[in-house]
Amino acid sequence: MTEMLTVVDHPLVQHKLSLMRDRATPSAVFRQLLREISTLLAYEVLRDLPLTRRAIETPLAEMEAPFLKGKKLCFVSILRAGNGLLDGMLDLVPSARVGHIGLYRDPETLEPVQYYLKLPDDIRDRQVIVVDPMLATGNSASAAVQRLKEKGARLIKLACLLAAPEGLKTFRAEHKDVQIVTAAIDSHLNEHGYIVPGLGDAGDRMYGTK
Ligand code: URA
Repeated sequence: MTEMLTVVDHPLVQHKLSLMRDRATPSAVFRQLLREISTLLAYEVLRDLPLTRRAIETPLAEMEAPFLKGKKLCFVSILRAGNGLLDGMLDLVPSARVGHIGLYRDPETLEPVQYYLKLPDDIRDRQVIVVDPMLATGNSASAAVQRLKEKGARLIKLACLLAAPEGLKTFRAEHKDVQIVTAAIDSHLNEHGYIVPGLGDAGDRMYGTK
């Protein structure tokens, strides 16, 4: 299980995350920090991308140099907060395909309800990185990955910013094959399904909607 869960405890990530947690951080700064952290998370979640070698000439010598093999990557954003992680990842890999899944949490049951799904046709041939800042109950991420598997995706990873122990447990019970990369694991969920200490509602913090 341990290699299927990576906590990115790099000081840069932890510093930026603490700034994001602070309730006084304005939306514009919050978005910028999320974009920056997502490039650092991308570095970790993409570390086993396959490489191929091509002959090049440096000013000094010929060499077989490593390049990324093909462009078979797809980021899938769980709307709406997933888009905050997506932007930074696309900065790093601009040629990746992008899918979107719209899921909202029913406030009563906390169960995910799907209202949108758009994926590339060849999703089964791609390394899929699902992005969602908050793994709280784990229900949305778990449902999103389930839809992706139903559409044929086979290679799936999940990148998030914060995870709750409850969400990790729920997600892992459903998807033992999916590696999770997160910047931190927080204490617990409160009675409304929010991560504590957390950072509040990621979507609202990003877009200033509350
Ligand atoms: N979604 C959020 O945006 N924040 C939480 O704490 C939990 C779910």
